[in-house]
Amino acid sequence: MTELTSLTLLEAKKGLEAKEFSAVEITQAHLDRMAKFESLNAYITPTPDQALAQAKASDERLANGKARKLEGLPIGMKDLFCSKGIKTTAGSKILHNFVPSYESTVSQNLLDEGSVVLGKLNMDEFAMGSANLTSHFGPVLNPWKANDSDEALVPGGSSGGSSAAVAADLCLAATGSDTGGSIRQPATFCGLVGLKPSYGRCSRWGMVAFASSLDQAGPLTKTVEDSALMLDVMASYDPKDATSAPEEMPDFTTALKGDVKGLKIGVPSEYVMDGMPAEIKALWEKMALDLKAEGAEIIDISLPHTHYALPTYYIIAPAEASSNLARYDGVRYGFRHPDAKGIEELYKLTRTEGFGDEVKRRILIGTHVLSAGYYDAYYLKAQKVRRLIVHDFEAAYEKVDIILTPTTPNAAFSVKNPPTDPVVMFLNDIFTVPASMAGLPAISVPAGLSGNGLPLGLQAIGPKFQEDQVLRLGAAMERIAAFSRLTQNPSAMIGAAS
Ligand code: GLN
Repeated sequence: MTELTSLTLLEAKKGLEAKEFSAVEITQAHLDRMAKFESLNAYITPTPDQALAQAKASDERLANGKARKLEGLPIGMKDLFCSKGIKTTAGSKILHNFVPSYESTVSQNLLDEGSVVLGKLNMDEFAMGSANLTSHFGPVLNPWKANDSDEALVPGGSSGGSSAAVAADLCLAATGSDTGGSIRQPATFCGLVGLKPSYGRCSRWGMVAFASSLDQAGPLTKTVEDSALMLDVMASYDPKDATSAPEEMPDFTTALKGDVKGLKIGVPSEYVMDGMPAEIKALWEKMALDLKAEGAEIIDISLPHTHYALPTYYIIAPAEASSNLARYDGVRYGFRHPDAKGIEELYKLTRTEGFGDEVKRRILIGTHVLSAGYYDAYYLKAQKVRRLIVHDFEAAYEKVDIILTPTTPNAAFSVKNPPTDPVVMFLNDIFTVPASMAGLPAISVPAGLSGNGLPLGLQAIGPKFQEDQVLRLGAAMERIAAFSRLTQNPSAMIGAAS
């Protein structure tokens, strides 16, 4: 029998419903594998007792014919979704001992449909990063290795614990959050499907905030179908989040067939970037040709403000972060510096020691661009450019149904020698940030391997609230690429999958 941990979410759901194995068995199989691959550092807080108790309750429901959508399916939770009674750190020292008294809406939705939560997944501190190198709890390792070196690679970020865990079969699926690319980029680096829904689709209530006008929860999964299954449960209209959207969710059934006949697919000229590896461009062009052969229409389009998306993002996101992170003062949450005398010193020492360098960099940038005298020149201007980016997409969707681009300009890089210039690190988000700025749904699907055997992804960006179109193109790309996941390809795994 195939190992229980190597099943997809949907396969496991069918297996449980057919009573081929129990929820306790599949949960225990994942817990055992988590222990075996502890060195990946994917989980900050495993929750085995809770998971087994949930699995036991699921087995009773399965036996009584009362199974819910995700009954008994073990998943991982990014550590920025507040879990009632369970430590929720957002990868930061300042929240290292924070135990929420309530559950986030997204995680509650998942619990209400019977999923089993194996633990809280590592992440870049406050979701700031592209490599999972900024976590207070240490770097996460990508379970993939190149075919020409045994060097440890980054799993992408900020949802790097999520991507490493799903790729190494340490959970069937995981939650992530995406502000400028944090679901799609790690999905690409680990050969997974990552879906950022439309802004407003999943509630932000109980999700530790980074940049409130951009943050969006979404799934990291082994397949496109699994992505639809997770999204369906994670999303909800939530009156507790003022930006939650009351829009109906489209039906995914037809979309998941991946029939692209007559689909108008836009290919934006601005996404051909100087210095982009030829193999990424070739993968993108080949996919467009294959989709054309299946009856899609490939249309050249222009998104003229694309080049401004990244600099604009790195004004707006830090501005919002500096405001959101003002609440961490040593009084209300988490870490409090023990030596402070007086309130000012308490703020100063707590924040100096509680935040890591990347978070401080964002707070400084954000405070600067919002300060009197600079607000108009930076923040206000960035808001205007953001509007132009939204217009670019609106104009494009008058001509096409969906847009096809690469997800990242490179594959996973070394943990030991990552880019030292923060701006080079920021370039990881160059293809993912525009959809974030416009609040559009976007999926990354693994499309092939780089010359040295590392996964590369392609991205489908859809019109707002049309997650069905995104899944439709995603399903077609998945079929065309016929990508083998890491654990179907064990020689590519670090530590040689013993
Ligand atoms: N890498 C980007 C950043 O550091 C995006 C992060 C995210 O989407 N949370 O801001």
